[in-house]
Amino acid sequence: MSYVDEVYERVVAQNQAQPEFHQAVKEVLSTLRPVIEENEEEYRKEALLERITTPERQILFRVPWVDDKGQVHVNNGFRVQFNSAIGPYKGGLRFHPSVTLGTIKFLGFEQIFKNSLTGLPIGGGKGGSDFDPKGKSDREVMAFCQSFMTELYRHVGADTDVPAGDIGVGGREIGFLYGQYKRITGLYEGVLTGKGLTYGGSLARTQATGYGLIYFLDAMLKANGRDIKGQTVAVSGAGNVAIYAIEKAQQLGAKVVTCSDSTGWIYDPEGIDVALLQEVKEVRRARLTEYQAKRPGAEYHAGKGVWSVKCDIACPCATQNELNLEDAKMLYENGCYCVAEGANMPTTLDATEFIQSKGMLFSPGKASNAGGVATSALEMSQNSERLSWTFEEVDSMLKRIMNNIFKNCDEAAKRYGMEGNYVAGANIAGFQKVAEAMKAQGVV
Ligand code: NDP
Repeated sequence: MSYVDEVYERVVAQNQAQPEFHQAVKEVLSTLRPVIEENEEEYRKEALLERITTPERQILFRVPWVDDKGQVHVNNGFRVQFNSAIGPYKGGLRFHPSVTLGTIKFLGFEQIFKNSLTGLPIGGGKGGSDFDPKGKSDREVMAFCQSFMTELYRHVGADTDVPAGDIGVGGREIGFLYGQYKRITGLYEGVLTGKGLTYGGSLARTQATGYGLIYFLDAMLKANGRDIKGQTVAVSGAGNVAIYAIEKAQQLGAKVVTCSDSTGWIYDPEGIDVALLQEVKEVRRARLTEYQAKRPGAEYHAGKGVWSVKCDIACPCATQNELNLEDAKMLYENGCYCVAEGANMPTTLDATEFIQSKGMLFSPGKASNAGGVATSALEMSQNSERLSWTFEEVDSMLKRIMNNIFKNCDEAAKRYGMEGNYVAGANIAGFQKVAEAMKAQGVV
């Protein structure tokens, strides 16, 4: 049996009932085959793949908190510190009822390669809780965040582990978490990113993942003789990534006709009204039915359905495994020629294979959504030098980073005879830097 297959079997056996983690490892290892085979003897002797697929540390903790009626609740808290070969652990916190240790491990594993691709000195980690901020009062969210940080603070720090936001963790949650960290430790340091602008946040961090996705998409289209201008785009999600992806795509001349949340989706043939979407989702934290109520030309549909709409480009920006084989077939039959992932692992493995087999362009989230973590690393730099850069400075660095990520993915794929396979390119380019650093640092 090949070393790659052996390690994959080991991962499945040792991490039972964690299908998303298995899926992420399978995707990465299968595309790394040519690199591993070139160095098989050395990597096997050093157990490099066993080490890279095993987190350095997994922290599980109890998060008790009291609701507005005086009832005590208990949630699970997680922080997986996956790999620190190239820098302090870096990766978001997700608060969503579906969160399990397996979810956090899949996200932390992906984060290693994504962070490496940014070219910045950040290792891979991820955390979160099965807490659901939806429907909770601000006081309840604060109580939860304070309890969560009361345990987490001992494991994080500006030079050890720097969490950020993810699904369910936005500016409000980061503020409460930061306040509690500072209160317990007495340290005013860049321990979290995605902070508010009044206390160390970076301009353009809010927009970074969505803008970065579109910068990457633009570079990928240009390299393939196409242009985003005039294209019809279907986006899923209506959160941080989706909103700013829609905004940037429209700024560059595309028309985005869909968005969605966990209960339904919008088809707006005139193009999504971003200001209205922000008002509904960011300010009022309401459902998309309220968007439709103010936009008579738009349609609201309950359930799932974004991928049934005719479009040139699809950008899944909600959550993992939201675009399956049936969806991929519908997109293809409707003339879609490109899928650019904004979320983490939103496309199932069989859907990705189908998309690639049809010669459609496909960018994996770990490359095309890396703008968020890259800008978080820029926030860390600003905190370290006690300075703030302008929006234009950060945005232009983000654009440069996304162009470089595309170039590195493209070149790595070509180097191994897989031109145009940006999944392989991203995994190879991300892996090689981490593997070199791990080898140099010995058996740790
Ligand atoms: P948000 O919480 O801001 O938004 C998530 C959106 O997706 C919401 O519209 C939400 O609906 C919808 N959604 C969440 N879970 C589901 C589900 N199970 N089924 C259907 N819809 C769902 O999160 P982000 O925009 O920050 O994150 C979106 C994706 O991007 C995630 O995969 C995240 O890991 C990834 N990502 C985020 C980065 C960031 O900087 N924020 C960086 C890199 C990746 P509702 O409004 O009903 O909650």
